[in-house]
Amino acid sequence: MLTLPTCGGVALLGFRIPAIHAGMTDGGELRSNPRRVDPRPAYDQSASRPEIENGRPASRFVIPNGPSVTVRTLTTSPEPTSGCPVCGSRELHDCLRIPRVPVYCNVLYDDRQAALHAATGEIDLVFCGACGHLFNAAFDPQRVEYSGDYENSLHYSTRFQDYATALAEQLVERHQLRGKTIIEIACGQGDFLKLLCSLGGNRGIGFDPGHVPGRSRLESGAELTFVPDYYSEAHAQEQADLICCRHALEHIPRPAEFVRMLRRSIGDRPTAIFFEVPNAHFTLSQLGIWDLIYEHCGYFCDASLREVFRRGGFQVDRIATEFGDQFLTLDGRPAGAGEPLAEPTTAPAELAEDVARFARAYAEKVERWRSLLHDLAGRRRRVVLWGAGSKGVSFVNTLQAGEAIDGLIDLNPHKHGRYIPGTGHQVHPPASLAANRPDVVIVMNPLYADEIGRDLHALGVDAEIIVDETG
Ligand SMILES: [Zn+2]
Repeated sequence: MLTLPTCGGVALLGFRIPAIHAGMTDGGELRSNPRRVDPRPAYDQSASRPEIENGRPASRFVIPNGPSVTVRTLTTSPEPTSGCPVCGSRELHDCLRIPRVPVYCNVLYDDRQAALHAATGEIDLVFCGACGHLFNAAFDPQRVEYSGDYENSLHYSTRFQDYATALAEQLVERHQLRGKTIIEIACGQGDFLKLLCSLGGNRGIGFDPGHVPGRSRLESGAELTFVPDYYSEAHAQEQADLICCRHALEHIPRPAEFVRMLRRSIGDRPTAIFFEVPNAHFTLSQLGIWDLIYEHCGYFCDASLREVFRRGGFQVDRIATEFGDQFLTLDGRPAGAGEPLAEPTTAPAELAEDVARFARAYAEKVERWRSLLHDLAGRRRRVVLWGAGSKGVSFVNTLQAGEAIDGLIDLNPHKHGRYIPGTGHQVHPPASLAANRPDVVIVMNPLYADEIGRDLHALGVDAEIIVDETG
């Protein structure tokens, strides 16, 4: 029988989530071999709920012996250890903290022990009141290394491919890319660079440490070269008419230094630049709380994106939102010698309110789910979660769902039988539910709720579906 240890969190909150912390040691680490326990003996129906004031939960939630999620109100940090990585300001505000998330959300494991011991890190989200940048002050670049194992799964989406094609066509037009040379930083396997080169008969040079080196010639006659390395000044001899970089700047812990390096590498050449990053406005407004992941150490809004390039010595010609406002794009060019830079960009006042609202929503949502899982575990309901992408992995790890959730369901056959990092839940195919019928199916993406309902019906599964309303 697993003895449920006590801690300050139990006394403070007056409730327990036995199934959630089953398998944890006193230090909050998962046991290498968690065992299933009967949740009922420790579940106290008379226990009071978490402190609720004026309809809002208290600002600190503690899972007994598990990690805590601390949500702090926006107050200026008394002694920030370092300034904003975009503008250097020390007007920094604590936003929220998630003590243990997997370093890689999308790497699955064949072995449960390996999954349980997957590298984890802390998210300490801080907001810069000067430029509006959000960043993870606890990010440790030593933990993250991008290699051939890292895969950007967005490229498998048809909608994303259509978007990339349209974007490449627009870039060819906007920057007159015909018979030119294009560098792509963090090119992955080079899909977008191939598009740009095919469309305009351009020559491409792609940099990515995860790329297998080689050269290839496209049907258009365009030549492609891939360099399996990070882009740096060491490669400044490679000249280009356009340098593009998509979905990489948010992975760089000191983006201002990176942009200055890029400016030095370009020198006095008239090279245009194009950058694309996730849009922090979108995450904030859509309350995409499960989209906070360790790999993203920075979350750019249009103000902070503009500011990091202005400070780096670029003129910003265009900032736009794309892909249903989920992405921010920037077109720019190096400021010439003696050319005055634009005025500094400051964060719009409403951004601080959006961040505060997001932090509150985060606290409320985490608490609602935690309370619900607690209740379901108490009633011995068999619960599965549908969707083993980054949202699902964030969900079970943030909540430290443990045995409150039986497993994850996913359509992707490459994920079946494998284990997710952190909590070590196994991923199963939908068909498995016919034999192991769940009482409850949690759906991470509301867009798929109807389809999942039909799939369950076809399998003869009569389960309650609970949808995460904001995804
Ligand atoms: Zn800043």
